Amino acid sequence: MNLFNKLVVMTMPLVPKALVRRVANRYIAGDTIEDAVRLVRQLNQNGMMATLDILGEHITKKEEATATTESYLAALEVINREKLDSNISIKLTAFGLKLDFDFCLANVRRVVQRAHELDNFVRIDMEDASCTTDTLRVYEVLRQEYRRVGAVIQAYMRRSLPDIRGLMQNGAPANFRICKGIYVESRAIAYKNRELINKNFTYLLTEMLRHGAYVGIATHDERLVWDAMRLIDEMKVSREQYEFQMLLGVDEELRDTIVKAGHRLRVYVPFGKSWYAYSTRRLQENPQIAGYVIQNFFGLKSS
Ligand SMILES: Cc1cc2nc3c(=O)[nH]c(=O)nc-3n(C[C@H](O)[C@H](O)[C@H](O)COP(=O)(O)OP(=O)(O)OC[C@H]3O[C@@H](n4cnc5c(N)ncnc54)[C@H](O)[C@@H]3O)c2cc1C
Repeated sequence: MNLFNKLVVMTMPLVPKALVRRVANRYIAGDTIEDAVRLVRQLNQNGMMATLDILGEHITKKEEATATTESYLAALEVINREKLDSNISIKLTAFGLKLDFDFCLANVRRVVQRAHELDNFVRIDMEDASCTTDTLRVYEVLRQEYRRVGAVIQAYMRRSLPDIRGLMQNGAPANFRICKGIYVESRAIAYKNRELINKNFTYLLTEMLRHGAYVGIATHDERLVWDAMRLIDEMKVSREQYEFQMLLGVDEELRDTIVKAGHRLRVYVPFGKSWYAYSTRRLQENPQIAGYVIQNFFGLKSS
C-alpha cells in the first residue's frame, strides 16, 4: 500500500459525511427503489442491462436477514412490474450466512424461486474468504433446483481454478461472474501480484468459456476487456454466452465503447439507505479504489 492510499484509509473516518456522500453519489443510485428504477430505465434506454444491489448493514439477527429477503422479493416484483431489464445481486451474509447456514439457504431459496417464477435471475456476490466455501455450497444446491442463479469467482483466489472445475463437472451449465476480487486476503490463499491476478483472470475466463459456462466478465481494466474480446473472437463464443459487467459510475467511456462494439453489458447498481457504511467500508477495504475516488473527487486523472 503506498503512502497516499494509507493516508486515504486512515483519514476516511474523519471525512465529513456530506463529503463522502458527494464522492459516493456517482456510485450509488440513491436511497430508494424509485431512484434505482429511474436509473435502470435510463441504462436500459441506452442499451445496457442492470443488476440491483440493495445496500445493507452487517447483520447480527435473524430478523434482519428476513428483512433483507423481503426487500429483495419486493425488488423482484418492482423489476417485473416496471418491465426493467435487470436482475439482482445478493450478499449471503445479509441473508444470515454467518448466523445459520440452513436458515440462510432457506432465505435465498425463496428469492431464487421467485426469480425463477418471474423469469429473472439471482447473482450471488462473493464476499471475503471466510464465506467462499459456504457461498459456493449455496450456489451448488440452488443450481440443482433452479437454473436462474449464478456465482462469483475471484481471480485473486488461488482456489478459484479447482473451484470452477468442480462446479463445471456436473449438473446444469454453470453461470459465473468473474472479477479480480475486492477484499484484502493473505498471500497464503490469494495472489497479491497484479500481473498474476490478471493472468489468472484470463485463464479462468478461458476455462469457463471452453466448458460452455455463461460468464459475466466484471472488470474496468481495459487490458482484461481486450483479452476477453480476443478470446470471444478466437473461440467464436456466441453473444448469448457472456456479458460484460461494470460498476455504476466507473469509466463510462469504456462502458460505452464495449456497448458500441456490439457486446452485451450489465451495470451493477447499488441503492439503499446504508450508503454511508457501504461507501466508507468499500473505500477502506480497497485503498486503491479509495485512491480512484479521491482522485476523481479532486478532478485528477486516474490511470
Ligand atoms: C459488476 C461487478 C461486480 C463485482 N462483484 C464483486 C464480488 O462479488 N466480489 C468481489 O470480491 N469483487 C467484486 N467486484 C470488484 C472487483 O473484484 C474489483 O475489485 C474491481 O472491479 C476493481 O478491479 P478491476 O477489474 O476493475 O481492475 P482495476 O485494475 O482495479 O481497475 C481498472 C481501472 O478501472 C478504474 N476503476 C476501477 N475501479 C474504480 C472505481 N471504483 N472508481 C473509479 N475508477 C475505477 C481505474 O481507472 C483502474 O485503472 C465486482 C466488480 C464489478 C465490476
